[in-house]
Amino acid sequence: MFRLSCLLLTAIFVSAGIADGEEAKLSALIVDGHSNHHWKETTPLLKRALEASRRFTVEVETAPKKHSELAQFKPKFSAHPVVIHNYNSDGSVTRTPDADWSKATQKALVDYVSQGGGLVIVHAANNSFPHWKAYNEMIGLGGWGHRNEKWGPYVYYKKDKLIRDNSAGKGGWHGPEHEFQIVVRDHEHPITRGMPRAWMHTKDELYSHLRGPAKNMTVLATAFSPRSKAGRDVHEPLIMTIAYGKGRVFHLAIGHEEASRCAGFVAFLQRGTEWAATGKVTIPIPRDFPAADKARESSIFANDAKEK
Ligand code: ZN
Repeated sequence: MFRLSCLLLTAIFVSAGIADGEEAKLSALIVDGHSNHHWKETTPLLKRALEASRRFTVEVETAPKKHSELAQFKPKFSAHPVVIHNYNSDGSVTRTPDADWSKATQKALVDYVSQGGGLVIVHAANNSFPHWKAYNEMIGLGGWGHRNEKWGPYVYYKKDKLIRDNSAGKGGWHGPEHEFQIVVRDHEHPITRGMPRAWMHTKDELYSHLRGPAKNMTVLATAFSPRSKAGRDVHEPLIMTIAYGKGRVFHLAIGHEEASRCAGFVAFLQRGTEWAATGKVTIPIPRDFPAADKARESSIFANDAKEK
């Protein structure tokens, strides 16, 4: 009877261990509510992509629309190892400060990251908060919102050399949406380790002319932005990491709306978010990762009704 009890107890502990797999998931927080992009459509795509990795549970905090209520917006950053910023402060677009956060909420985010929190910047989140100095330092590079040479250099690759260009000019530009090839520049980073050298991205905006302090920034991947598509014939940095205090920032400048469905985008979102949360990557590169010459939508979204 004693032996049987022991066996039963062992069985209970083993099964509890398996059930605990749920608790091993990382809690990710998506912040949204203001953007010149369709954040109501993109937040569910980001959420589904993260959940499909089975590594995350995802919560969303949506900032209130009204300025009078926005001052009370206090997302619980520190309750999560990683925060995904799908937010573009309207101030960067309309020149009004209406969608900017309270000083207390700004300080909370800076404290969170500098003390070791993970931050993921998706696409237009790098347009956000142009006049918030620490935010620009956390994201490394940003665009629009009257950014210019005072924000920091242009950063790009020319002839495989990383250039920091201090010439005067506006920060932030993109030409017409198109498919473009993304080239991995750093294969030693946990996020990119084992990835192919290049992959074709689905139709997206190719951000160019980003500028900012670019301190403690590592460029993981770039794409060539040709003059024929209103670019400047250089490789633009599109996927970066930034060290900020004890925190890790993962910056994914691709992902304009439907481009969030790209299998390459999904792989980087999943792996980059895990890295920002823990400093390590255990999520495998998905089997449907795109080839160098053929774009591919992630199979996660295969059953969605085709729009348009
Ligand atoms: Zn966009």
